[in-house]
Amino acid sequence: MKFLEMSRRRVDSRAVGGILDVIMPLQHDSEVQFVKGVGPKLGEVLRKRGLGRVLDLLEYYPRTYEDRRAIRHIQSLVPDQLVSIKAQIIKIRSMPMGKSKRRIWEVLLGDPSGRISCKYFRVPYKGYFERFQPFQQVRVIGKVINYRGATEFHHPDIHPIKEEDEITNALIPIYSEIEGMASQKIARLIRAVLDQPVPELLSALTLEKYGLMPIQQALRQIHEPPVEQGDLFLKFEAPAQKRVIFDELFLVELHMAGKRAGVKKEESRAIIADGAWPEKLKASLEFELTGAQLRAYDEIIGDLAKGHPMHRLVQGDVGSGKTLVAFMAAAYAAEGGMQTALMAPTEILSEQHLTTAVRRLEPLGLKVALLTGQIKGKEREKILASLKAGEIHMLIGTHALIQDDVEFKNLGLVIVDEQHRFGVEQRNKLKRKGLSPHFLVMTATPIPRTLALTVYGDLDVSVIDEMPKGRIPIVTRKTFQGKRPQVMQFIGDHLKTGRQAYIVYPLIEESEAMDLKNAIEEFEKIKVDFAAYKVGLLHGRMKPAEKDEVMNQFRRNEIQVLVSTTVIEVGVDVPNANIMLIEHAERFGLSQLHQLRGRVGRGAHKSFCILMLGYALSEEATRRAEIMEGSNDGFKIAEADLEMRGPGEFLGTRQSGLPGFKMANLVRDLKILQDAREAAFDLIAADPELKKLENQPLKNKMNLLMRNWGG
Ligand code: ADP
Ligand code: MG
Repeated sequence: MKFLEMSRRRVDSRAVGGILDVIMPLQHDSEVQFVKGVGPKLGEVLRKRGLGRVLDLLEYYPRTYEDRRAIRHIQSLVPDQLVSIKAQIIKIRSMPMGKSKRRIWEVLLGDPSGRISCKYFRVPYKGYFERFQPFQQVRVIGKVINYRGATEFHHPDIHPIKEEDEITNALIPIYSEIEGMASQKIARLIRAVLDQPVPELLSALTLEKYGLMPIQQALRQIHEPPVEQGDLFLKFEAPAQKRVIFDELFLVELHMAGKRAGVKKEESRAIIADGAWPEKLKASLEFELTGAQLRAYDEIIGDLAKGHPMHRLVQGDVGSGKTLVAFMAAAYAAEGGMQTALMAPTEILSEQHLTTAVRRLEPLGLKVALLTGQIKGKEREKILASLKAGEIHMLIGTHALIQDDVEFKNLGLVIVDEQHRFGVEQRNKLKRKGLSPHFLVMTATPIPRTLALTVYGDLDVSVIDEMPKGRIPIVTRKTFQGKRPQVMQFIGDHLKTGRQAYIVYPLIEESEAMDLKNAIEEFEKIKVDFAAYKVGLLHGRMKPAEKDEVMNQFRRNEIQVLVSTTVIEVGVDVPNANIMLIEHAERFGLSQLHQLRGRVGRGAHKSFCILMLGYALSEEATRRAEIMEGSNDGFKIAEADLEMRGPGEFLGTRQSGLPGFKMANLVRDLKILQDAREAAFDLIAADPELKKLENQPLKNKMNLLMRNWGG
């Protein structure tokens, strides 16, 4: 009945003479407590979960669908399938998990074909297991997995079966439970509002261009999927899902496009120069710049010559030669009469950049200086004074650069190296030291392209996708403690030929003291192993001056083996070192492993990365090692990383790449992201501030999303 969707709502009583309670139809933005079956109490629960309005309820998408189209037996289950089965409870028990206080819960199920175990590493909610008794018939929805040789479910949804619910040949939406409110009840609430008209955010033209269905239809199908599209829905490939995913990504990209349009409007001083200084730098190199380096440089100076601030990301794998591109840009800026600031995440890296700058830039007549937390007193004052006087062309340093009393005369170019190490605020603070300076960030792609499009959606991107000539691919091999003698032998053989080696230990905060002790103990052993050579030790607890000394000795080949914690992770460049041994490689993430490996393979010598693994290996750790063995390509590794770390379905969280997305997933939805990005940038080009009437709802919605997203 139609009036079921109407509800009592108090209208401002003064407007109607103060007497009447008027029956008003629900709107998409009505409070959810007025929906049939909700009321104030449940309304409050929903509101707290971010489901305060009717539209929020419509956008509470099923986590997955239960496929009742085929009857499955336990015997026939195959790992990796998302399935729904009917079974009987045999027993429920909990057992301690290792030595910790936590417990594993197990629900053992059976059907005439066999038995299967459902494991829970945490209790979904209080009373979850108390709902079941032996012999009870239940429906189980979850992903079949293979765990140490056994086929089982981890964290499946289990529902007691009620006869009236037993619909077969259907696709049943499964919602994440809310405060113990079961999926079926949520489905009922949503069904009560399915006919509410919702605003269409996209123009007819956009719908047509990208082959999208109207939002109203999409929302209905998502909550009541047509059976014949079952397979598409399970893969998030149904047209209805594509539409909703498009909207989510479109809104984020719209925000990015808007931000970028804002930057383009900002004024800044164009830096105009002949380019004679960068040319001289190029001519002084003992190698040729790669085509990709030259392209990136051209793109940069193209931006610098404009009257709007550059906002550019240089993305290039470890070892692709980003530093030189930055120095070329600094030389260009200096020639044009502007100062450059280069910020790096660590002191070691800042020092190294200074050394390179002294070697490459000072011969051109540029004055470079270093500023880190360690530089204090008179020395610091002197640097600050000549910076303010405009005598220093390029200031290099850590976040010490962003202190308030650091003043430039005419800062024209801000470069941030390994930008993922810095927060947005730190970057902005440095930018504010100039009058809308040009802004260049460099990263070794610790994040995949798909994510980059979103996270850096407001930046122009130059990709350095070519390695310097003559580089030999690094050979990566995993190995185990038992092979230590052979590994040491292998390293020794290379030391004999004049090469150098890194041996890296993990240092993870919780166990830092112990890790450090391990690193230092190992250092003593390694000194014995390589008695004929000089072995150095580097860790974060050392004084900066000591660190510099060790690093410089390694650079000059006065130290042949450098035992280190991960302080050398980013940026360090010693081309003669060709072996990287990573101890306890299972404790590192993929992007960190790739960064560490990037310390070798920088010279003309064949290089090796050895991943020494402990014995208590998780499946993931093994997988990571294999990915490392299989690829040297940072892009591929980053993508694999996101795929692996993406929220697991069996943990019960909704599949999403970033907070704020209800359905979109950046790994899975790249194609849609590209379309959404194009559409967003087109729209902003036509209506930069979304001022046109028909674009208002879009703007409101975007602002709402951005508030949640923290962007
Ligand atoms: P990253 O991109 O990881 O920051 P670097 O800028 O540290 O890489 O460069 C890595 C090494 O490659 C440095 O020793 C640098 O001098 C060298 N290099 C840079 N460009 C080239 C090139 N075109 N040919 C040969 N070697 C190069
Ligand atoms: Mg670098």
